[in-house]
Amino acid sequence: HIYLVTLAGLGQGAARQVLCTFRDTSAEEAAEAMRRDFVANVSHELRTPLTALTGFIETLQGPARDDPGARERFLSIMAREAGRMNRLVRDLLQLSRVEAEERVRPRDPVDLAAVLASVRSTLRPVAEGLGATVRIDAPAGAIPVPGDHDQLVQVFSNLMENALKYGTAGQEVRVTVTREPSFRGPAVRVAVADRGEGIDPVHLPRLTERFYRVDSHRSREKGGTGLGLAIVKHIVARHRGWLKIDSVKGEGSTFTVILPVA
Ligand code: ADP
Repeated sequence: HIYLVTLAGLGQGAARQVLCTFRDTSAEEAAEAMRRDFVANVSHELRTPLTALTGFIETLQGPARDDPGARERFLSIMAREAGRMNRLVRDLLQLSRVEAEERVRPRDPVDLAAVLASVRSTLRPVAEGLGATVRIDAPAGAIPVPGDHDQLVQVFSNLMENALKYGTAGQEVRVTVTREPSFRGPAVRVAVADRGEGIDPVHLPRLTERFYRVDSHRSREKGGTGLGLAIVKHIVARHRGWLKIDSVKGEGSTFTVILPVA
């Protein structure tokens, strides 16, 4: 804000006005604090698997050198930790790419029906491993939306994978597609619903923050990076859409994405 203050009756014909500038820096400070938190979080997330890898390398070079059983065991733990680092770096790159492009709305013609079917078939091994199924209820035929194909695959892959991961073994994940006539014009609504553990309402507002997890141990155990929903939020925003989360603890969760079609 810039204020021009006139000081009536002061001075002798000389300067009677004073220019006062006040700048509200709280938004900048909040952004800077977020950036610091993010760097601290990334460092911590990378250091955990790195420490494990370094420890196992030392053990393999020393005490476990001549123990084939221990070597096998340690190598498989090392592969898991390296996989964790790989996923983290992949998600960080994805997040920064989406953020960089957020102002540009993607408008390639994408068939949402094909996107959902391909995500379901990619996740089939995961679903089968859990004895779960993914059911898609959608209008027949193509469902065209303007967007970025790979990013929409990413959105529904993250949501369906979460529904399977945090669901109950043997359950059905249900994906329902409906037309939405009145979301800033015509739109498509996709709801991904699970009958899993559900989420306590206190967590809902923060769920799409980077690295926010309801249960860090459980997320890590399931190979989560804590970035999946942050990526979903940014991609949906880039598509000028809307993400809504409904959940009842102990009953399950529904993640709804609304995408404008025009
Ligand atoms: P993660 O890699 O930990 O799964 P996400 O950003 O995808 O990270 O999700 C953030 C957190 O939200 C998860 O750690 C989990 O606690 C919670 N969450 C996400 N999806 C579901 C779901 N379908 N049911 C219950 N909790 C969920």
